[in-house]
Amino acid sequence: VLFGALRVVFFMKGKLILVVGPSGSGKGTLVAHLRAAFPSFVFPVSWTTRAPRQGEEASVSQSGKKYRFVTEEEFKEHAAEGGFIEWASYGGNLYGTPSSELLEPLAKGETVLQELEIQGVEQLRAKIPADKCAVIFIDAGSWDELKKRILERGAMSETDLEKRRARYEEESSFKTSAQYVIENPYGKLEDTKRRLEELVRSLSNA
Ligand code: 5GP
Repeated sequence: VLFGALRVVFFMKGKLILVVGPSGSGKGTLVAHLRAAFPSFVFPVSWTTRAPRQGEEASVSQSGKKYRFVTEEEFKEHAAEGGFIEWASYGGNLYGTPSSELLEPLAKGETVLQELEIQGVEQLRAKIPADKCAVIFIDAGSWDELKKRILERGAMSETDLEKRRARYEEESSFKTSAQYVIENPYGKLEDTKRRLEELVRSLSNA
């Protein structure tokens, strides 16, 4: 399996575009926009142990992602078998990208776009050649601004909010190591969509 994966990486022809940014940065909405703008891209389906949000299983929700919702046992079994090219724990839940859904399209020369948190980005950066992998950071400003957006999306307990804040600090520190930063100021979403779309088009030659 390892040899197979290495061989795929060696012959990789496609481009991997990773989108990162703190919770509430608008990342989900922006990725949903990219999904519509670039229907020829591959958007890998992540596995997660978190519970689906309302309406999430039926379609791609406002989170911009389609997930496969699994139990912790199923997730860990798949991880032990080497089924994920990267996986991480976030907010008490596990998230991972299946190796095949990422490597196979890249080997065929397709553009793959994945939205994920920073531990996953680090793992992918260690595995994918730098010239095949672009990281875009969505910057939505201060924690106070973000907190407002997170709470607009639905109620959240103080404990969960505190966890998100700690994560915000961590994710924000990643900004300096991303190749591209897209600012998403409050109330300027349409403009951000346009700038992000232009950047992604230039990265993918789509
Ligand atoms: P949410 O639960 O809000 O959908 O996602 C929580 C966080 O997990 C987000 O930062 C999202 O980008 C990240 N995430 C989603 N899928 C994956 C994945 O496959 N791998 C990793 N490492 N993070 C993911």
